[in-house]
Order: sequence, then C-alpha cells, then structure tokens
Amino acid sequence: MANHPRFGPAGVPPLFRVLGARLSDVPGLLREEGLDAFEYQAVRWGQKPQMKQEDSEKLGAQARKNDVLLSLHGSYYVNLCGKKEVVEASKRRLIACATAADWMGAYVVVFHMGFYGRLEKSYAFRTCINALKDIIEAMNSLGIRKVKLGPETMGRVFQVGSLDEILTICEEVEQTQLVIDWSHLHARHQGRFRKADDFRMVVEEVERRLGTEAVRNMHCHFSKIEYTDKGERRHHILDEARYGPDFHMLAEVIAEFNMRPVIICETPLLDVDAVKMRDTLREIIEK
Ligand SMILES: [Zn+2]
Repeated sequence: MANHPRFGPAGVPPLFRVLGARLSDVPGLLREEGLDAFEYQAVRWGQKPQMKQEDSEKLGAQARKNDVLLSLHGSYYVNLCGKKEVVEASKRRLIACATAADWMGAYVVVFHMGFYGRLEKSYAFRTCINALKDIIEAMNSLGIRKVKLGPETMGRVFQVGSLDEILTICEEVEQTQLVIDWSHLHARHQGRFRKADDFRMVVEEVERRLGTEAVRNMHCHFSKIEYTDKGERRHHILDEARYGPDFHMLAEVIAEFNMRPVIICETPLLDVDAVKMRDTLREIIEK
C-alpha cells in the first residue's frame, strides 16, 4: 500500500488533544512531525458509524493533502466465533467500520477476530473464516471494494489470531490485508523475538505462503510489551529497556527485505515513539 515505509500513531496523540486540534487537523500535525500514517480508532463503535460522513471525508481530504495514509482500527466488540447473535452483531459492527473507512479513504479496517471460548480451535477458526466471507460479500454489495479487512495477530493464547491463522485467512479470503502485530506475537509466545533472526523467520514464512508483495506491504503494529503466561498484559514505551521486542532488530529485517510496511505505533507515547522508530529505520537504511 505504501511506496516507502510509513510511520504513524494509533489514535490522536495526547499533545494534539491538549492543543485543541480537531480531527481534520491531525494529518497536517503528523506531517509537521515527519509522520505519514494514521490509524483512526473506531474501537468503541457499535453497529452504526459513530462519526458523520462529512467529518470522515474532511479527515480523508486532509490526509490526502498531507500524504498521510489512513487505516482504521475496528471495534473491539467483535467475536466472529461466538453465539449466533454475537456473530451477527459483530458483522454489523465491522460493516459500520468499513463504511466509515470507505468515506475517509482508509485502506484497511484492522480488527480482532474473537475468542475460541469453549469451541475446538480449528472449528472456531473456520467459523471466523465463514463470517469474514459474509462481511466481504456485504461490503461489496454496498459498493465498498477499496477497503480491506485486516485481522490482526493477537497477544493472548485464548484469542483467535496466531500467525498461522492470519496467514491462512490471507490465503483464503479475498480483500484481506496482512496485519502483523509484532508485540502481540512476542507476548503470545512468551518473548519470541530475541534476535533479528527471530523476526526474519516470520518474514520468510510470510514470503513463503503469501509471496513477496505481501511481505513488502505488511501493515504492522509495534510497541514494547509486558506479558504473563497467558500472553499480553500491557503496552510500554520504546525506552522501557526491561521489555521487548527491540525495534532495531525488526528495522534491520525491514531494510534487508526492502520492505515498505505501514508501522503503527501503539506505545503510550504514540507519535513520539513513531518518530523514534522512523529514525531508527532511517539510520539503518542510510548506513
Ligand atoms: Zn488491535
């Protein structure tokens, strides 16, 4: 999606709010910081878009003007393998998110698929795939063809979203976008990324299954992360040396594979840490 690596925050940075910025001011302010991606947070949305079409379009126009690529993080209230009524409501929530993404020109709706619950894992997963196909069909019948659905790798072992599951979805379902949350994978597997090679193995697996283009155009989330034996516990800032993973190692692999990912910073510092990651990658590429 991006013609070069892009960096930006997950949501409106706290300082922008202090400054009294309107949503449509955000792309210009990010551009001033040298950032070029923004993930709008629709994480508490219900079954209808919770922003006006006019406001979405204003945000989109400013994003295009400032060359800031938009994505949208969909509702947390989604479980594609729960009870029938839960699945149906989840579908409507994601369609609402896709509708607003279409208005603003966001290229992907990132979302969490759900929880295995008492279901057998592979059965739960197949249920998710079927629901996803229904959602794409509904989006297409509404004329939403440019927006992709981006199920994300998840940080807790009871959540649907292992690397293998996400890759399988990208293989089987049209109009999907690979979303790798590196921190979630780190937490799900008790500290999986200890050296650059650990990142390289994931990239090679993606390349083997989805091809070079998918590797190059990966949508990523990154932050330092604390975990327990069940997985993800809390996000931390990049300077928190006690926690992994180390962005420098990932940046080496991004440079090596000539990737141009969209990297959304999910640390509590959002834009500040996004700038740090951008600079880390820049230093490696220019070396
Ligand atoms: Zn997420």
